[in-house]
Amino acid sequence: MSFIRTVLWIGLILLWPAAAPAHPPLRVVASFTILADMVRQVGGDAVTVNSLVGPDGDAHVYEPAPMDAQALLAADLCVINGLGFEGWIERLVKASGFKGQVVTLSEGISPLSMIGRGQDGQGDPTGRADPHAWHDVANVRIYVARITEALARLSPEQAATFRAHAARYDGQLAELDRWVRAQMETIPVARRTVITSHDAFGYFARAYGVTFLAPMGVSTEAEPSAQEMAQLIGQARREGV
Ligand SMILES: [Zn+2]
Repeated sequence: MSFIRTVLWIGLILLWPAAAPAHPPLRVVASFTILADMVRQVGGDAVTVNSLVGPDGDAHVYEPAPMDAQALLAADLCVINGLGFEGWIERLVKASGFKGQVVTLSEGISPLSMIGRGQDGQGDPTGRADPHAWHDVANVRIYVARITEALARLSPEQAATFRAHAARYDGQLAELDRWVRAQMETIPVARRTVITSHDAFGYFARAYGVTFLAPMGVSTEAEPSAQEMAQLIGQARREGV
């Protein structure tokens, strides 16, 4: 093949219309990074994902910035956890003028009440649900199914791609769930107690049979009192945590 013919061929390949992306990426805004990761797994190259709360942020007490409203207004879809986790989202959605769909991923899970939780055994007397549902892998699989439906509704032509990504990801999550259970089996039941700062692991505890003792409560808004800390230290000593 002559040089000129080679150049013509390369030019033809570069100009070939199929080389251009058939769809501009869907713009998705997620309230925090864990949800953003899930959206990336399902959407792949067909989405761009923006997380409102950054990797080191605290979604319980987040204060949205003007750029968050801009990102939301430009988005095709907004995904949130729900169960009161993002107390600031409703105002932000209103203020931004966003007219797209807000998908609440925790809809359809079996929520855990906060009654009976915490050091005093009283927990949250209001009976609100614990929002940290993604710490049970079974719930993540429900979140992923909801993300997949939402993306497929937005772009039906790409639905098969999203479902294929989701099926692969769901397989990995099922494997992860089995792995966590197998790891727990190696720990004697009496030793499955963990002290942590913030009581965020109720769903993990329920799913995998671990007891978490946390002085900070289900939200991060309040500091533990000296009395709560003393109770926790006493319990840790008595039970050999
Ligand atoms: Zn939390």
